[in-house]
Amino acid sequence: MSKKLGCCILLSIFALLILQISIKKKPDDYVKTIITNKKNTIVAINYPQTKYKHLNQKIQKYINDVYDDFKDEYDFFLNLKGKSELNIDYTYYITKEGYISIVLYTYIDSSLLESPLREIKTFAYDSKKKRDLSLLDITKNKENLKQKILDTLKLKYKDETYKSLITNSYLKKIPYSISKDKVSLYIPSYQNKVTPYLIHLPLSDFNLNEKEENKHVFDYTPKSKVIDPKQKVLALTFDDGPSKYTDKIINLLKKYDITATFFVLGNKVSLYEDTLKKMLKEGHEIGNHSYNHKLMSTLSEDEIKEQIQKTQDIIYEKLGYKVNSLRPTYGSVNTKIKQSTNMNIVLWSVDTLDWKLKDPKKIAERGLKVKDEDIILMHDSKSRTEKALSIMIPKLLEENYQFVTISELEEVKLLRKKLQ
Ligand code: ZN
Repeated sequence: MSKKLGCCILLSIFALLILQISIKKKPDDYVKTIITNKKNTIVAINYPQTKYKHLNQKIQKYINDVYDDFKDEYDFFLNLKGKSELNIDYTYYITKEGYISIVLYTYIDSSLLESPLREIKTFAYDSKKKRDLSLLDITKNKENLKQKILDTLKLKYKDETYKSLITNSYLKKIPYSISKDKVSLYIPSYQNKVTPYLIHLPLSDFNLNEKEENKHVFDYTPKSKVIDPKQKVLALTFDDGPSKYTDKIINLLKKYDITATFFVLGNKVSLYEDTLKKMLKEGHEIGNHSYNHKLMSTLSEDEIKEQIQKTQDIIYEKLGYKVNSLRPTYGSVNTKIKQSTNMNIVLWSVDTLDWKLKDPKKIAERGLKVKDEDIILMHDSKSRTEKALSIMIPKLLEENYQFVTISELEEVKLLRKKLQ
């Protein structure tokens, strides 16, 4: 054996050792990424890997199948002309019971296709019992669940097409995910009826006790809701509350069966505990609008953190509810604010000027100049806001807008990006 070869072998062993170490050092859950950019094909695949081999294998098999098919179908033939793209993205949830759900969104576009292909694939896994988890495993009552899915779909989907579809074996296969406050079903499009529906169901319909630790504080069950990602969506948002006008607004929203997001001030939470409870019971979302409305962009990082955390803490203490989104005061955002939090920072796209205009009709006029995916800014600290809303809502419903919360808007945007 030459000296050179021996050296090479040694080096290889050494390299293998390093590789081994670096594999072992990987965290339990991590993301695998494949990105290639060839002349005619671009590929971006991101998917999670967990410490559970069985689950990883299933995910890996799906990814391999999709990627191999893509290469066979598009890559090879496209070496001469045309373009194609494969994109796989994911969301990952884990509950306190150790239930892991992973949603994979596959998107394929190619000049060989008339329109892009999309697919949602979900994996659910019971990490304590180390086995797959089907929707039936967590369902309290099969018949009730089937009825609930049908009833929810019927609201949007006038005929009874789904009735024959929703069977026990269908329930077993249904793509779904469990997040901290709901179970989401991804009803595939059926018979070319364009839309895959997204249905949210409350955890209380299932054998899930995520909320149990807060039960002594306040137990609320959000309503079930169906959102059609193909139809226009709007998010109503209210700042600076709660106030003595908030209940009126909640009642009005209830009359039309619509939900909104309230960015509240921490220093008002104790005073309006009942209003906030009602808010959650009616399915509205609560956001964080600082503790006492200081201009956050002029504060130090520590002060910003304090403004945010004090509000998070009091909401959690009184309602057992964890807020996900932050609306900085005066809509003023800077790097300090962004660095102080990993919450979703939410501004708006339509300002109704209800804080300035006195005439509800003028406020409504501005609130009616909207388009799909707009976020409307209003204030539940003003009496005229409710009056303006009572003009706006019926008109917007006539224009077939669906009212969503900020979290739902994010979900719809994601679905659209992946599905339409
Ligand atoms: Zn404000």
